[in-house]
Amino acid sequence: MSDADIRSESWWWLDIAGLDAIVAALTRAGHRVVGPQVADGAVVLRDLATPRDLPLGWLDEQDGGHYRLRQDAAAGVFDHVVGPHSLKNFLFPPRETIARFTRTDGSWTQQPTDETGPPLAVIGVRACDLEALRIQDRVFMGGDYVDPGYAARRERLFLVAVNCRRAVATCFCHSMGCGPAVTHSADLALTECTAAGGEPMFVCEVASQRGAAILAAAAIDGLVACSAEEIEAARGVPQDLARRMHERQAEPGQSRPRSLDTHGIRDLLFDNLEHPRWEQVATRCLSCTNCTLVCPTCFCASVTEVADLSGDHVARERQWQSCFTLDHARMHGQSVRNSTASRYRQWLTHKLAGWIDQFDSSGCTGCGRCITWCPVGIDITEEVAAIRASPKDGGGEQRP
Ligand code: SF4
Ligand code: SF4
Repeated sequence: MSDADIRSESWWWLDIAGLDAIVAALTRAGHRVVGPQVADGAVVLRDLATPRDLPLGWLDEQDGGHYRLRQDAAAGVFDHVVGPHSLKNFLFPPRETIARFTRTDGSWTQQPTDETGPPLAVIGVRACDLEALRIQDRVFMGGDYVDPGYAARRERLFLVAVNCRRAVATCFCHSMGCGPAVTHSADLALTECTAAGGEPMFVCEVASQRGAAILAAAAIDGLVACSAEEIEAARGVPQDLARRMHERQAEPGQSRPRSLDTHGIRDLLFDNLEHPRWEQVATRCLSCTNCTLVCPTCFCASVTEVADLSGDHVARERQWQSCFTLDHARMHGQSVRNSTASRYRQWLTHKLAGWIDQFDSSGCTGCGRCITWCPVGIDITEEVAAIRASPKDGGGEQRP
């Protein structure tokens, strides 16, 4: 094997030592490497020094308002699914200084801010989150107004994706057309193919020129190319999961995966703005904002200017906002969405209907985070199904 053999669309076997060499090559190339790790009772994305810190032997159980980790000797490195974090936490950070100003002799000048940090490499990104990335790219970089911080971080982002081979009860990526197979945006794409009782092994697809360059720089001893049969078998892993999800087969210890019927969903929701279901869900919704904070596609933010005591230095800070807060829709001294029902309706109809007009795609990837992390287990798939089951057909011209 020579470096020339490591090119885009080539496939290789990796073990943990090989993954370690890739992390080391990324670090040498100046990347901050982040990956899933067990912390505070969840699988979260954190700085990763070595793949030995990945959650080998951990499984997550997820359902409405429910998240638990348990150890399972048969579980691989990536058999957990998505946790509360996503790429959004890094590309569009929860709080960011976007401008600084200084007053000198009565005149204000703007100083450059660069909070983009070193280039980021993320290990273990799932298909649903790659779709969320594509959606956020459109929001932050499509059209005339490009967000400079997001664009700078996005341009240098290196992605090691993972094909899922297990789903939890809150997953419905298959019904949104977003997973579970990795189909775009990755630099390297892993499929875990460990033999029973064996050391973790991965089939690694080189999915970009940058991926090829990093794999070559990793200089892995005895790197072995996959045979055509092995590539086919690896491709079959997420395909098999997709079949099980479409058949709504439950994984061991899980309820059946959810599904969302997207047929005609834009018109269904806009035609049912006065449906009684909005008031029913509002009796449970706490307006806590969790669903929007964990959603990998939600992008609302507020901007505040913060001065120091002298008044000569001002920082303009952007932080995540949520359409579940009263302040989000405050105009002329009052909120235009002063009921929980109107705020829940705004969130769901924007996500699944308004987004189609605005960005030509759904705003939902079926990752299921909003269901898992809702403290009362409100379920976006259940709410849509309830409206679909008894449509009222009214109010189509009035947007929430
Ligand atoms: S709306 Fe819910 S399921 Fe859809 S992308 Fe956001 S968090 Fe995931
Ligand atoms: S739907 Fe759930 S997570 Fe979202 S604001 Fe209401 S209670 Fe909080």
